[in-house]
Amino acid sequence: MATAKSVSNMKRAGDQVGVGLFGGTFDPVHIGHLRTALELKDALGLAEMRLLPSAQPPHRAQPQASAAHRLAMLRHGVDAEPGLAADDRELRREGPSYTLDTLAEIRAEIGPETPLCLCIGMDSLVSMNQWHHWREFTDYAHIVVAARPGWHLPKTGEVLEFVRAHRVEEAAALNTGPAGKLLIVEMTLLPISATGIRQARARGESIRYLVPDSVIEYINQNQLYNT
Ligand code: ATP
Repeated sequence: MATAKSVSNMKRAGDQVGVGLFGGTFDPVHIGHLRTALELKDALGLAEMRLLPSAQPPHRAQPQASAAHRLAMLRHGVDAEPGLAADDRELRREGPSYTLDTLAEIRAEIGPETPLCLCIGMDSLVSMNQWHHWREFTDYAHIVVAARPGWHLPKTGEVLEFVRAHRVEEAAALNTGPAGKLLIVEMTLLPISATGIRQARARGESIRYLVPDSVIEYINQNQLYNT
């Protein structure tokens, strides 16, 4: 089994200057997303973690709720926590939304010095070579990989080579430059999925304590996920 610092044992990175990005469909946002985003923000010493809803997920089925509803739910979800924010740029963009364009745009906005961390799951890292111009991500950002205990890297191939070329062991290394490094952080993720929440809702079951109350209120008001 591969090893990495677990998020609870990590030496805090310190400075609180960087920006983190946590992408997803958020159909709907749930406390698994919010808790992970906050733990990563603190462990990496970031000033803010932005949750970025995706417009047209390239590799998966279309979301059930509209982009406007997903964004509204996300805004309710992050509202109570000043360190978290919703970033709607991919929803405003016409056509397919590429991560590289998002990173380049944010880099232009925050300037060349500020650390920028693209946070992804190990499942995304393993298939990252299918993303548009993926090797260039580290020109604009660090990559932080949240890995469940027991995780494995691919045994061979270009993703493994990429990890070897960029990997650092300590979060503090991300604050020594704006981009270019890759950190694997071991985390126990809450066993919650948006799919499970949509299914529970369609069966008429309660989703309380899986989703923030304000998001449940929005779901009820707008009659979302009833079927
Ligand atoms: P779905 O069930 O519709 O596939 P999901 O719950 O997996 O949705 P996404 O919006 O697809 O949520 O995920 C956004 C990001 O959050 C992804 O990087 C995903 O790996 C991560 N994520 C999903 N579920 C959890 C969880 N329980 N805890 C922490 N992170 C999660």
